[in-house]
Amino acid sequence: MSQPQATELLFELSRPGRRAHLVPACDVPDRPLSELLPAGALAEKPPPLPEVAEIDLIRHFVNLSTRNMAVDTNFYPLGSCTMKYNPKRHERIAALSGLADVHPLQADESCQGLLAILFELQTMLAEIAGLPAVSLQPAAGAQGELTSLLVAHAYFRHRGEHQRSRVLIPDSAHGTNPASAALAGFEAVSIKSNLRGLVDLDDLRAKLDERTAVFMITNPNTLGLFDDQIGTITELVHQHGGLVYLDGANMNAILGITRPGDFGADMMHYNVHKTFTGPHGAGGPGAGPIAVRDTLAPFLPTPIVARQGERYYLDFDQPLSIGRVRSFFGNVGILIRGWCYIRTLGADGLRRVSENAVLNANYLLARLKGAYEVPYGERCMHEFVASARVLRRERKVSAMDIAKRLLDFGFHAPTVYFPLVVPEALMIEPTETESKETLDAFADTLLRVRNEEAAVLQTAPHTLDISRPDEVKAAKEPILRWKP
Ligand SMILES: *Cc1c(COP(=O)(O)O)cnc(C)c1O
Repeated sequence: MSQPQATELLFELSRPGRRAHLVPACDVPDRPLSELLPAGALAEKPPPLPEVAEIDLIRHFVNLSTRNMAVDTNFYPLGSCTMKYNPKRHERIAALSGLADVHPLQADESCQGLLAILFELQTMLAEIAGLPAVSLQPAAGAQGELTSLLVAHAYFRHRGEHQRSRVLIPDSAHGTNPASAALAGFEAVSIKSNLRGLVDLDDLRAKLDERTAVFMITNPNTLGLFDDQIGTITELVHQHGGLVYLDGANMNAILGITRPGDFGADMMHYNVHKTFTGPHGAGGPGAGPIAVRDTLAPFLPTPIVARQGERYYLDFDQPLSIGRVRSFFGNVGILIRGWCYIRTLGADGLRRVSENAVLNANYLLARLKGAYEVPYGERCMHEFVASARVLRRERKVSAMDIAKRLLDFGFHAPTVYFPLVVPEALMIEPTETESKETLDAFADTLLRVRNEEAAVLQTAPHTLDISRPDEVKAAKEPILRWKP
């Protein structure tokens, strides 16, 4: 354990006059700034920046960076987030000057290479989805949801179906689903899960009618279960004139095995930062491209990357388009990393990714289900949800206590308290990039922790600088900047 007093004493590193560099005074004769710039544009005094030596600055940031956990430092089984290894080769390629230094407003002719990559990515994402039209613009999964719902809204308006005002969403869904529905101006209607953790078909039937615009489904769902009723579900929704949206956050389980377009989805988003290894965590950046059926293509945001002969260009000529949802054409740096990943693995490699992700999750499930209750899990896809309900009842040990204790052993916590349909949820997603040794070390630790004294668990972690911050306050009133 480090010494918190020493860290606090040293927190304020600024000393008047201390500098990293001293630049020689300018010896080019010049007019005073007050003649060159309007009076209002000139600051009266220098900005109040910390005054520090370079070595102190570097130590400050390097030390701060080591207080966090990352995929590059620790096993990170954060369910639903697909924290797989991010290959370093992608960083080098995304940083190439011809890709990283392109200005969004430069002429298409001068960035044909980048446009070719984006065009190819659109084509590959369409193929993986089984849906022909792709927009790379949305900057995250949540924005992909919103964009798709705006596309659906424009589609129904175009058809004169103004009464389609409701979006149906299973109760196991991610919170972004109902939030996106509300933002797009729809009413979000919850659909129950059945005893198997899948969509309750009776509840779905009862709520489908001419007001239904979209049914949003995550498949496999957030319990790590593939809903094998999906054929019936999409048929029912289509019979009522609605569209089916696939939340693609869990694509890591089905790449190359099945395609959303083939099981009846009309629209979907990808989370490139999850499935296709954009480094993520700490809030971004991400990329949430969407893929849609041909009937919805005219409504996609513009521009789309298009090709005419050998020439690539940005196509703005889409009269029915919902317009832009983001400046320029998406988070290009993350999209390039996704392209690298798909090109590296190829079709067979992508399928092996999903097979191994599912294998790893089932291995952990098999090792843990004797000790932890797993309410919906004989088998799972790429993740599963254990419950600390019994521990809570018998020993007053919560899912949070288990999650916090894992930090002492060098493991990032699983996702906790989500999905809401499992009390005291611990949602574990190992991903395909972990070795059997890592999975075993994690399983051994969870088995050991389960039998530790309640007092040890309730006060964990015991080895980190920060123990249990007020998470709500940290999220609502984050202090992210140094202020003088
Ligand atoms: C991560 C996630 C989202 C939201 O994606 P972002 O890229 O974080 O905006 C939506 N649904 C599910 C199931 C997710 O896991």
